Amino acid sequence: MSARILDGKWVREQILAELRPRISKMAASHRPPGLAVILVGHDAASEIYVRGKIKTCGELGIYSEKITPSESVSTEELLGIIEGLNQRNEIDGILVQVPLPKQVDSRRVLLSVKPDKDVDGFHPVNVGSLVANIPAPRACTPAGIMEMLRRYEIPIAGKKAVVVGRSDIVGKPMALLLLHQSATVTICHSKTLDLAGECRRANILVAAIGKPNLVTREFIQPGAVVIDVGQNRDPDGKGLVGDVDAAAALELASAYTPVPGGVGPLTIAMLMANTVQAAEQHLCCG
Ligand code: NAP
Repeated sequence: MSARILDGKWVREQILAELRPRISKMAASHRPPGLAVILVGHDAASEIYVRGKIKTCGELGIYSEKITPSESVSTEELLGIIEGLNQRNEIDGILVQVPLPKQVDSRRVLLSVKPDKDVDGFHPVNVGSLVANIPAPRACTPAGIMEMLRRYEIPIAGKKAVVVGRSDIVGKPMALLLLHQSATVTICHSKTLDLAGECRRANILVAAIGKPNLVTREFIQPGAVVIDVGQNRDPDGKGLVGDVDAAAALELASAYTPVPGGVGPLTIAMLMANTVQAAEQHLCCG
């Protein structure tokens, strides 16, 4: 078997193309959607991510604002910045790029973003909505993976899904989104016994671990759909490698998201989708 490649760029372009008329309509009748991104300090990876987010906003006609407090910012100062953004009507989404410096109480900062402007879907109110399956902003990477599965018409109901990783950003919301689509879901983590055996039972295997090539051929049931969320630096530090052994996935899986080019492009697309959704909500319902 040679796996069908699930192309994240194709899915991203579809998502963005669907957003464009919604943005134009809002801009013509009221104002464009607005996203504020807070980037503390000079973490190289964070700077790249934020650049990508701001650039995509520009391409779509979403108003964006980058706020760059210094590395030594205090929790109180950040809370003040967020409170200001919470109050501004033209800002629909607030994104605090993580990681934050050690002196900052990340939890307080996260809690201070108004839930209806939490376009990352990290606020406990939005996490609660996810658990209860109530519409609210969803974490972008898992939401993007669900879009990808939908657009490639990959059946989920009744399938056995295994998610490796239980982070608040990827693993947990991923598992809940699959559960809401009636998959039978197992969540694995670093203390899971017989990880390969658990994974091998999966019809849909999602690897969100952060360990290069941890998922080898022993983990993959022939015919499984394999979603590789991992974004790891390769040994020479230049390219990206996933959590899944690509050769094994290509040989055994029925469908596979490569790294790069699979899941990666979806996150920013879903951030844009969450921002547009928030703006529509704000403009219609205040
Ligand atoms: P994280 O917070 O570090 O969580 C990693 C998870 O993997 C944890 O739950 C951990 O288990 C589990 N794990 C670690 N080693 C393991 C092992 N040997 N066996 C089984 N489980 C193991 O990472 P994250 O933020 O979820 O990100 C995961 C990966 O996805 C990273 O490579 C990240 O760069 C990538 N990512 C990509 C995108 C994107 O493509 N747009 C977005 C977000 C993240 P414990 O809980 O037991 O420690």
